[in-house]
Amino acid sequence: MRVHIDPDSGFCFGVVSAVNEAEKELKRSGTLYCLGEIVHNKAELKRLQNKGLITIQHEGLHAIKNKTMLIRAHGESPETYRLANVHNINIIDASCPIVLKLQRLIKKTYDRMKGQNGQIVIFGEPGHPETIGLLGQTSGKAIVLRSINDVGKIDPSKPVALFSQTTKSSEEYQLITSKIEKMMKEDVPFQVFNTICRQVSKRLPLIRKFCNIHDVIIFVSGKNSSNGKILFKACQERNSKSHSISETSELKPEWFKNASSVGVCGATSTPMWLMEKIAGRIEEISKNQQ
Ligand code: SF4
Repeated sequence: MRVHIDPDSGFCFGVVSAVNEAEKELKRSGTLYCLGEIVHNKAELKRLQNKGLITIQHEGLHAIKNKTMLIRAHGESPETYRLANVHNINIIDASCPIVLKLQRLIKKTYDRMKGQNGQIVIFGEPGHPETIGLLGQTSGKAIVLRSINDVGKIDPSKPVALFSQTTKSSEEYQLITSKIEKMMKEDVPFQVFNTICRQVSKRLPLIRKFCNIHDVIIFVSGKNSSNGKILFKACQERNSKSHSISETSELKPEWFKNASSVGVCGATSTPMWLMEKIAGRIEEISKNQQ
């Protein structure tokens, strides 16, 4: 049985850079606070925790006065920077430059549209840290659409500027755009910004091809990963023998019976070392089955 790791899976550059920043500081001082999970991947979190990374939540900001804290690739809202300043927290800002660019664009558009009674609409996961950071650019005033079923929240008689969280599905964004376009009253401005990250959108066609050429697919991702959910759905559509796991212990030997090739792939928050470890374990399972 052949086991092949998808060369196009694994950390995107935003996550690579945040992890590098964290490791640099951990090497220097041995302790670093991170606001929220640095990646949605338990195994990688554990690896960094062992080096001294401490994950805190927003309510814990007051307790780390004068300490150093990393802002992860998802970015943060202006309120977080304000609170960090109040508590004299030294920030290492690892917000992904693509997310920062989107935050600035939303803020600029929001300021421009305020006088026109316009609506900022974000296709995003409510409660997802990136969406919270985007919402913060509008003082919480933007309308968040979880799916196409939420477009009724928009008033079609007022101008609309539509954005997407960087990790959402391009196909779903397209459908939402068309539905809003049809809904809008004549002559009311409707602007769409293409804000899905190419690191994510280019992976969908690649992962589909990868799923077509293997008998069994093992998709490795944390359960909270937004792009992990989208990519795994694409795996299932292409290969009915697709299984989503987050660690080696979840592998089941019966998945590999009669398989001649197994593909291991993952999300933008899945470290390569974890996919390699899982591929190694699948090879061991295969040898035991011979
Ligand atoms: S998916 Fe794109 S926008 Fe999000 S962290 Fe990675 S590179 Fe940045």
